[in-house]
Amino acid sequence: MEERGNISIHTENIFPIIKKFLYSDHEIFLRELVSNAVDATQKIKRLSAIGEYTGDLGELKVKVAVDKEARTITISDNGIGMTAEEIKKYINQIAFSGATEFVERYKENTTDKNEIIGQFGLGFYSAFMVAEHVDIITKSYQEGTEPAKWTCDGSTEFAILDAEKEGRGTDVVLHVAQDSDEFLEAPRLRTILEKYCKFLPVAIEFEGDVINNPTPLWAKQPSELTDEDYKEFYKELYPFSEPPLFWIHLNVDYPFNLTGILYFPKIKNEFELQRNKIQLYSRQVFITDEVKDVVPEFLMLLHGIIDSPDIPLNVSRSFLQADSNVKKINTYITKKVADKLNEIYKKDRPAFEKSWEDISVFVKYGMLSDDKFYDKAKDFVLLQSTEGKFYTLDEYKAFVQANQVDKNEQQVLLYTTDAEKQYAYVEAAKNRGYDVLKLDTMIDSHFIGLLEQKLEKTTLKRVDSDTVDKLIEKDETKESVLNDTEKEDLKKVYEQAINNQHMQVEVAPMSPDDAPVIITLPEFMRRMKDMNRSGGGGMMFMGDMPDTYNVTINANHSLNQRILKVEGDSKESVARQAFDLALLSQNMLSGAALTAFVKRSVDLLGKE
Ligand code: ADP
Repeated sequence: MEERGNISIHTENIFPIIKKFLYSDHEIFLRELVSNAVDATQKIKRLSAIGEYTGDLGELKVKVAVDKEARTITISDNGIGMTAEEIKKYINQIAFSGATEFVERYKENTTDKNEIIGQFGLGFYSAFMVAEHVDIITKSYQEGTEPAKWTCDGSTEFAILDAEKEGRGTDVVLHVAQDSDEFLEAPRLRTILEKYCKFLPVAIEFEGDVINNPTPLWAKQPSELTDEDYKEFYKELYPFSEPPLFWIHLNVDYPFNLTGILYFPKIKNEFELQRNKIQLYSRQVFITDEVKDVVPEFLMLLHGIIDSPDIPLNVSRSFLQADSNVKKINTYITKKVADKLNEIYKKDRPAFEKSWEDISVFVKYGMLSDDKFYDKAKDFVLLQSTEGKFYTLDEYKAFVQANQVDKNEQQVLLYTTDAEKQYAYVEAAKNRGYDVLKLDTMIDSHFIGLLEQKLEKTTLKRVDSDTVDKLIEKDETKESVLNDTEKEDLKKVYEQAINNQHMQVEVAPMSPDDAPVIITLPEFMRRMKDMNRSGGGGMMFMGDMPDTYNVTINANHSLNQRILKVEGDSKESVARQAFDLALLSQNMLSGAALTAFVKRSVDLLGKE
């Protein structure tokens, strides 16, 4: 038998278009052809299961072979095979119309090219991205049918010929084109197979090795698996990572199909957050590790696998976002993650607290970006005090209420962004019975804003902000030992000594045990500057504005009382010294000012 025909019905040659447009992603030809081969084996398995095929199934597998001399790559399977009629139907018509549709869509959609390339399964015709000539030699499982050979040289003409083939199945032989030599290199092919075919459900053999794990963990039942299994699998996926904190095994079949495992990675620091660590599969075929839009933004920090045949792979991103399945998947994953965290929190609070440092960034990011997640997480999000104790939001509010120092209706929660640098303030606040929270990560500056917005009658103030001395003042029932004139005089001495219009001097009674001088940056100003720095806020003029600090002089400190008694110019010298000490304790003294301070100190020490 020999039959010749023409694939093209009404369009010019599509192969050059395929080749040209798909330039950057040629390697997916192997994914497509191996997937087809796997499908063929799955089909015969099903036919056998339902009794439609009674022959011997044998060991189902797919073999990939390369022959550099002959310039061929062969993908062989022992699946259902095709009759000559089926080749005409499936390869000439179905496969061709798939490819045509692809090219049409590709031509229209000029903006999303890269995305389509990566997402669209071009099917059998992707073979022509690397081959100048393709043969299919195939024998159907159906008894009494003859093997057939289809051959096509990359033009639109094909031929179907008689062929010799022993067993059931299909060999696809690619005669590699001159410009695709790279694919004749075995290591290159192996890398591609490992990337796309690592978890295909049928053994994939290459150079005598089975390169895949046909029953990956996510395809198994959680009840069959141990913690070790999950950890081992994580190691298989991310060989150089530390063990994960915990994981969630996803398994839904209604209203969409989805399986997978999401791991919470151990994070060393916030700068190392790695996105694109979740891999998207469709029926165990690797699709992409760019899961943006499929997974909620804040969960992109997780690692693992999502496998769903219901995620449309052949559409552009904008369609993907609007897809109702994708939306449902988003909601489902968010809920699952929140439930898992809640479960650990409830079951083992100490363990939850122990891993808090690692998971807090997910939780806070999630609360910031997703209202539904906020509603669930507000019950288990933890606040840590500088004392090292953990509280939930409710616990902390109750704790502050019970130990309230000032009787305001508005609760003020104090926090530090750097317990080391703000040590003096943290201590001062603690001495007055205030607890101070540690909110010192990058995400905390946003999280603070969220808490203020969500928690009623609550304000958060950084421990070195101006409010603190106001709180302190309010708290101190102490009278000032200085009268008003003395206070005025003291203020003048300091103003002259400091001589800087950005330092707002104020004299106020505090405890004699407090520092003589306290420098604070008003909360609102610091926040606005922070916001400006991080690009938000839109208050651009703040960028050029110098800091205006509050300098509070402790009227009840013996040093300040003594300054008033010092004779002449030395008054200012001592005041400047006290001010510099305050700067020094805040890490704000440097350069010429520091040198002057050291010199003045030496002079003062040398005095009789
Ligand atoms: P798709 O796989 O998306 O249907 P393809 O262009 O990849 O599109 O393949 C078209 C059709 O050709 C398949 O649906 C299948 O019926 C048939 N086919 C392709 N490869 C094989 C194979 N190795 N064995 C049996 N049939 C195959």
